[in-house]
Amino acid sequence: MKNIVIIGGGHAGAQAAASLRADGFDGRLVLVSSEKELPYHRPPLSKAFIKADEDALQELRPALFYEKNGVELMLGRTVQKIDRAAGKVVLDDGELPFDGLVLATGARVRIPPVPGIDLANVFLLRTVEDARRLKERFAAAKDVVVVGGGFIGLELAATARILGKTVTVLEAAPRLMGRVVAPAISAHFLDLHRGLGSAVRLETPVAALIGENGAVVAVETASGERIPADTVIVGVGVVPNVELAAEAGLDVLNGIVVDEAMRTSDPRIVAAGDAVAFHHWALGRPVRLESVQNAVDQAKTASATLMGKAEAYRAVPWFWSDQGDAKLQMVGLSMDADRAVTRGDPGSGSFSVFHYAGDRLVAIDSVNRATDHMLGRRWLAAGFSPSPEAVADESVDLKGLMP
Ligand code: FAD
Repeated sequence: MKNIVIIGGGHAGAQAAASLRADGFDGRLVLVSSEKELPYHRPPLSKAFIKADEDALQELRPALFYEKNGVELMLGRTVQKIDRAAGKVVLDDGELPFDGLVLATGARVRIPPVPGIDLANVFLLRTVEDARRLKERFAAAKDVVVVGGGFIGLELAATARILGKTVTVLEAAPRLMGRVVAPAISAHFLDLHRGLGSAVRLETPVAALIGENGAVVAVETASGERIPADTVIVGVGVVPNVELAAEAGLDVLNGIVVDEAMRTSDPRIVAAGDAVAFHHWALGRPVRLESVQNAVDQAKTASATLMGKAEAYRAVPWFWSDQGDAKLQMVGLSMDADRAVTRGDPGSGSFSVFHYAGDRLVAIDSVNRATDHMLGRRWLAAGFSPSPEAVADESVDLKGLMP
């Protein structure tokens, strides 16, 4: 293989570049990214980056890394088309040949079809450019309305409270982060955000953003109530960037379809990260995950596959979210769970919910309880399931449970 092109300079793309060199690829390696910056850490954008006085962008690797490893960076450039027959990708201003291709195109923010979404002082957050605009606005903002009670909305709500803003969170569903965490975790974070001083409204869908002179002044709920706002942040999920793959004739569902070694329907093309739908070995169906761990680990598998050392992807998924001073950590996937067991007292601010599918432990959600999370990673990787009775009993030392 002589030419590998990586499309996307997020967590997956940057890791693919590093892994391909570590795995012995010695041909031409080009990473194309629509963003102008060197690949950077996205998670701080909703937390430390907004709070910091300076522009605290954290690069994943220094410029020297790419130089030393012979990774050609094409930043601020966008791939318009993959020409599989000719073995080339077409940029806005040129072409690159490939015999191996990594799709690491990630996801973009979902823009809800709400009237007024284009008004000034309405913000979405995915890139550092978005974060810079929001940070600049925060200097003047007083009344912030966050649309969406998911991870990013809640992280930003906590950040805005810490910065002294009046904050209202509007969530359409009956509980916060409802798609992914246990009800006990949702309830805990509802109390936490209310304790921080945010007004959190559940079952409150937004009907429209109301503007005056082109700028937002209020959010109108479905019941017709108007909540004053000089700044609105919309965090209602993401859409995977699958269009390039779809137009190139690759299989696409809710993500670019890959096999267990991250190969797309064209064996020269692998994919990794938020854009990917992979067949999950335990769930038995395609899953698309949105996390740094998933992007990084899938990129390692994708690289090994291109280098002829394909192995099945079996990484245990994990994720974190920092909201105020609470650290939520999740390991495993709880969507097929039928029983939840709580360890610790939620009122103490430190507890975990263990999810079981039958007798099998499938996931753990932990709040300020890193030990449970770390043990969970080891247990799930080893396929070990402690009994629900043992995990519910705080007098049992979990560390000694796995033989
Ligand atoms: P991305 O990071 O989305 O990168 C994709 C890149 O590809 C982008 O730079 C995009 O511009 C580029 N691209 C797309 N199409 C093209 C094209 N045609 N040509 C060239 N370039 C292209 N995860 C956690 O695990 N924990 C957290 O606490 C956490 N917090 C987050 C906070 C925020 C504010 C955000 C936005 C995300 C957070 N995430 C968190 C999610 C995590 O950042 C993503 O899961 C991760 O970035 C996915 O990496 P990726 O490489 O697949 O995609």
